[in-house]
Amino acid sequence: MKKVVKFGGSSLADARQFEKAGAIVRAESSRRFVVPSAPGKRTKDDTKVTDMLYACYALAQENRDFGKELERIRQRYQEIVDGLSLQLSLDGEFEKIEQNFKAHAGKDYAASRGEYLNGILMSAYLGFPFVDAAETVFFTEKGEFDASRTNTVLGERLKNMPNAVIPGFYGSNPDGTIRTFSRGGSDITGSIVAKAVQADVYENWTDVSGFMIADPRIIPDPEKIDMITYRELRELAYMGASVLHEEAIFPVRSEGIPINIRNTNQPDDAGTWIVESTCQKSRFIITGIAGKKGFCSVNIEKEKMNSEIGFGRKVLQAFEDNGISFEHVPSGIDTMTVFVHQDAFMNKEQKVVSALHRLADPDMIDIEADLALIAVVGRGMKSTRGTAARIFAALAHKNINIRMIDQGSSELNIIIGVRNEDFEEAITAIYNMFVMVQL
Ligand code: ASP
Repeated sequence: MKKVVKFGGSSLADARQFEKAGAIVRAESSRRFVVPSAPGKRTKDDTKVTDMLYACYALAQENRDFGKELERIRQRYQEIVDGLSLQLSLDGEFEKIEQNFKAHAGKDYAASRGEYLNGILMSAYLGFPFVDAAETVFFTEKGEFDASRTNTVLGERLKNMPNAVIPGFYGSNPDGTIRTFSRGGSDITGSIVAKAVQADVYENWTDVSGFMIADPRIIPDPEKIDMITYRELRELAYMGASVLHEEAIFPVRSEGIPINIRNTNQPDDAGTWIVESTCQKSRFIITGIAGKKGFCSVNIEKEKMNSEIGFGRKVLQAFEDNGISFEHVPSGIDTMTVFVHQDAFMNKEQKVVSALHRLADPDMIDIEADLALIAVVGRGMKSTRGTAARIFAALAHKNINIRMIDQGSSELNIIIGVRNEDFEEAITAIYNMFVMVQL
């Protein structure tokens, strides 16, 4: 058994958290490859080291004094070194960082030092060798992740190593400069390492015991998801359920390596398993509910629209020409509705309307704002009758008007549009209908 274990920022925020992570790694000899994030928040109002580094580098870039800010970062690491009684000095590293900041080494370089330094600490603490991601994770000329070169070099490098610590979040450009993934990108590194070493499991240790069926800010103490497929996760993540970086599933998915989301603060919890496919039914018919507020619907009416070949293309062209991506396009005989993000649409609204007139010559255009979309996701829906009926009944009982319904052809999800103000109540009603009644 071979595992890659990635620890998020809150799991490594201070010496106590490091101790928990260390105990987790030592508990199983299969936990051979460790991917740390930078130290995260210790309390709700704390600042992540990555954010401190960005702020510090912003001063350096303007040639302003950044000594105090860098010293604060150094102290965060020193506290961990002291708390763990490590015989390690980071003075040389901080001198180098200061020089490179002065020489304007780049924002990505600056941010990456959070993981780099934490990797050095983790390596000293566990007694595992340190493998710099700058030498093993690569980006292309265009700034895209170079999966094939990375997999070859990283795989080769780790092949004969019993253990290693590989810092998350960054790699290098073809010219050797540092580049980071987008925020939260250590999740991606963990997945890349799992693929390179052909791990049996990619364990992602964070501060929650996995995915919840619904957002805990709306449903207090919701039930946990035991197992979810990659496809279900995509649907929920797109609608705002965020525990794992969206791109983290791709490297392991192609290899059939499962991801296990675990809680560093409650290591005995089984967490959530993310798998390619499973015959294991979810405990409830639905796997999860997620949603977002802030959509607009653009309703377009034109008599005999259905028989006009190319009408849909012309309508969508009006959005494309204005750089607006659409979310859903439910249609009727003489109507077509395009759902878009309100933020992106607002200041281009009139341009889109005139483009629609020019391209599609509709009889009427009607725009409605402040809508929310809710995705009810579940692999079990396909084989269960009455899921949609139960959703609609739940909403009807609460007097919530449904503005849109869209069931994906995969029968993996049902999307419902409601007014922003009904959003929380709608999610609660659906949760109660599927989860509470079954408990
Ligand atoms: N430290 C980086 C961030 O705060 C990356 C990560 O934690 O995954 O975004």
